[in-house]
Amino acid sequence: MSQDGERLLVVEDEAHLAAGLKLNLELEGYRVDVAPTAREAGQRLLSSEGYDALVLDVMLPDMNGFEFCSHLRESGNFVPVLMLTARASADDRVRGLEAGADDYLVKPFELTELLARVRSMLRRRNWERDGGGRRQALLEFDHVRADFDTHEVTVRGQPVKLTQLELDLLRYFAENPGRVLSRKELLEKVWKLRNYGEARTVDNFISRLRRVLEPHPKTPRYFLSVRGAGYRFLPDG
Ligand code: CA
Repeated sequence: MSQDGERLLVVEDEAHLAAGLKLNLELEGYRVDVAPTAREAGQRLLSSEGYDALVLDVMLPDMNGFEFCSHLRESGNFVPVLMLTARASADDRVRGLEAGADDYLVKPFELTELLARVRSMLRRRNWERDGGGRRQALLEFDHVRADFDTHEVTVRGQPVKLTQLELDLLRYFAENPGRVLSRKELLEKVWKLRNYGEARTVDNFISRLRRVLEPHPKTPRYFLSVRGAGYRFLPDG
């Protein structure tokens, strides 16, 4: 049961499903609005005092949920997003997470599963908002400066764009300097994927961090590969 009536926005055009979600989330104590289109969701996000989380369907009449989520993140809105989709391919799952979604649920889903995911997403958000124990807020190495609170990253004073997941990965490295991190650990801790994550996803993200942050991406000094084991971040180079 939600303690303080957290506000949720359900973005879903299938009226029957949207109404069912609204009812069940309200029974859990959440305050729920429904937007049947991306356009209306965008308007609500601009005009309201803010939502604590979004339940976002991928198939919308005017824009797909991946695009909507990307736009949201690019505009600086980091509200937690649970994405709903009928597709189950690993590609789509990764695509959703790369678009900045926090979690992913494949239709048809069990209602209890959705409620559990929403709860855990809000818990994680509250934990991070309250300081999350000792989460690192700032990382500086070489000519890189990353502020994890404001999402601002600069290289030699020039702003660079990182997605939410790229930032999360960088932050996890920053919090575990010098330690060898396996792909499995990174998938679990950064992507929140258990058992079904693909190691190649991690490699792609590391390549991208190197391209953006390393002075010589092909001979990395900071984001090192450890053969057969994973990766290691050495902030001192
Ligand atoms: Ca839909």
